[in-house]
Amino acid sequence: MQRYYTANYIFTIDAAPIKDGYLLMDGNTVVAVSSKPIETNIALQKLEGFIVPGFVNAHCHLELSYLKNQITPGTGLVNFVKNILAIRANYGLTLIKDCIESAYEEMYENGIVAVADISNDDFTFNAKADTRIYFHTLIEAFDIVPAQTKTIFDKCLELTKTLQQLAPNNQAHSIVPHAAYTVTPALFKLIKGHATKHQQLQSMHNQECVAESQMFENKRGAFYDFFTQHGSMAHFESTGKNSLLSVLPNLSNEKTLLVHNTFTDGNDIAKAMALHKKLFWCFCPNANLYIENRLPDFDVFINAGTTCCLGTDSYASNYTLNLLDEIKTILKFKPHYPFEMLLKWATLNGAQFLGLDYLGSITAGKKPGINLITNCDASTLNITTQSKVKRLH
Ligand SMILES: [Zn+2]
Repeated sequence: MQRYYTANYIFTIDAAPIKDGYLLMDGNTVVAVSSKPIETNIALQKLEGFIVPGFVNAHCHLELSYLKNQITPGTGLVNFVKNILAIRANYGLTLIKDCIESAYEEMYENGIVAVADISNDDFTFNAKADTRIYFHTLIEAFDIVPAQTKTIFDKCLELTKTLQQLAPNNQAHSIVPHAAYTVTPALFKLIKGHATKHQQLQSMHNQECVAESQMFENKRGAFYDFFTQHGSMAHFESTGKNSLLSVLPNLSNEKTLLVHNTFTDGNDIAKAMALHKKLFWCFCPNANLYIENRLPDFDVFINAGTTCCLGTDSYASNYTLNLLDEIKTILKFKPHYPFEMLLKWATLNGAQFLGLDYLGSITAGKKPGINLITNCDASTLNITTQSKVKRLH
């Protein structure tokens, strides 16, 4: 069924925003987008606000949706991890799956069309059989105890098979490392070999707190202490470098998304980009504020010309699964940033990471999903704190 819209602005992303633009859709496909009326018999719907492409959520843990409002904010990453481990034991599978279903619906309503989603278990795989949202499942491996490496990797391989069975039409996946500090060199090697052989996208939590770099630099800090107590650090060797530069050679050369980057500086970015040619950098600002009460230094990423993406992270560390809320948070601290730039982070850049050419921009022939953002300020081409997203297609 065809629909014909006009709005204050259409942000196509691959070209400049179109003032009082026109958009003709046929089902989910963009037929035409123009600054002038399009020849059609379809009645024109006049909309207040900005028409934008569907959002791509570059980092989520849908399976942690049951942790909504369960974790105290602002206690730091080490305590955050301890809290999750303690609470997880109290929840039955039915409740966990109900929370996953409602989080799925919420993302859909919030105009999210694709998600790079971390899975440690198979809890989300039934929900992913629903193809209204595209999922790339990042099956995450960590082995603090070296003796478990092979068992852990085999479990990941098993999970990929379960995903193929339970969500045959939404089964894009990779096996990925959790973070520099939770993966032994032997497990990194298995993951890298598998990713290279199967050309799988990679993702890794990066520089989310200072403790992870302290561990690599000189075997100290809260993570080193935690792992010494709960596993074994006998195998661990310090590198004298921070966590990112220590493990970057362990990653495959496939497209790799580094997530959080809260403590990454310009020097790290330059060295990392020299070592790895296909890096994407994902920010989850609301989660960063929730866990560490700190934001990444966005300016250094912009100045370095990195490809930035946005994610919601999970309900363990966020109040909503809504990329518009992530953009609002960045604009609160960086009010001079153009909305259009942040919108590109939340749409086209994530689509590029996922390799989904049909998403990310409002271009004839694409099926990007179409959202309307209301309560905008058309005079500055920006959103306001009152802006809301409504899914149109
Ligand atoms: Zn995460």
